[in-house]
Amino acid sequence: MKKKCWIEQFKDRITRKEKIEESCILSAEEDAFFKLTESPNTSRTLDFAVTGYFLSLADCSNPEDPVRRQFMPTAMELNSLPYELGDPLSEAKYTITPRLIHRYSNRVVLLVTDLCAVYCRYCFRRHFTGKRKGIIGREELNAALSYIAENKEVEEILLSGGDPLVIADSKIGEILNSIKKKVPHIVIRIGTRVPSVLPDRITADLINILKEYKPLWIIAQFNHPHELTCESIQALSRFIDAGIPVLNQSVLLRGINDNAETLAELSKLLVAARVKPYYLFQGDLARGTSHFRVPLAEGFKIVRALAEKVSGIGMPVFAVDLPGGGGKVSLFKVKIEKSERGFFLIDKKGKKYFYPDEQK
Ligand code: SF4
Repeated sequence: MKKKCWIEQFKDRITRKEKIEESCILSAEEDAFFKLTESPNTSRTLDFAVTGYFLSLADCSNPEDPVRRQFMPTAMELNSLPYELGDPLSEAKYTITPRLIHRYSNRVVLLVTDLCAVYCRYCFRRHFTGKRKGIIGREELNAALSYIAENKEVEEILLSGGDPLVIADSKIGEILNSIKKKVPHIVIRIGTRVPSVLPDRITADLINILKEYKPLWIIAQFNHPHELTCESIQALSRFIDAGIPVLNQSVLLRGINDNAETLAELSKLLVAARVKPYYLFQGDLARGTSHFRVPLAEGFKIVRALAEKVSGIGMPVFAVDLPGGGGKVSLFKVKIEKSERGFFLIDKKGKKYFYPDEQK
């Protein structure tokens, strides 16, 4: 049988309970999520969608499978803790136009779409992701680019979302072209999960478009060694062979990659695929994601053990986005004070940010 092209694979994503039940027997927690959110009056936290490809990497007989847990919702998402936030990075505070975020002086983030191939159950931007906002409009793109052009200190733009690489080639080309016309000096980064969840999307046509806009970097997201398949490694190679470097950001996820052995295997596979493990993120305080967060002290232990197992190239920076908009910091560089219910992470200016002590 002829393999479906990426557009068909994207359209055929599984988005309904009845459909996923054809492949997986739902656990009580998974079933409860669908039941509790089926009423149109319930505000679902984050849509459900998984590609056939990513589903094929999961063990459908095991609710604890590390790939399955990344895409399959459970009722635990409906537990919101007092310190969890709808917008944990306070992006609203740094929003210039509705899709342009300017937190650090030399770089900006542009949310070009809210769609993703797979909705990751731990997503920190769940207040925006999958909310049917669609692709950025021409007017808004122009407004964002005018702002960037006027602010000469901006040297880099991160295209994010959602996942920019689920947009059609012609539209991606249009967006990149507009960026380069208005701000020719800018370095472009694209944050994407597509290499790990829909590798067929990385076509020769896409690469031909992207390589016109170098310097352009891909920031991929692989969280578990099972995601490094022949298909995903080939997808990564297509970027790298075209002179487009790839870095990887992982999230430290409870029950998925929260041990040094798994992370070391992931790092080694990434390095062998010519991808630099860039960041390993401690979980953000996004609403309904506590079941994914690893206690901070445990995170430090895992990362120290990881450093014993991998080379410098394979070692990511262990980092966190300071809750409430303090920005990204390396957890080995920030000052940490123990408090009664958690920790204070103290930035360079001495400002304190609370991060809870969540025991398993
Ligand atoms: S691909 Fe990125 S934006 Fe989309 S759900 Fe996953 S983490 Fe969130």
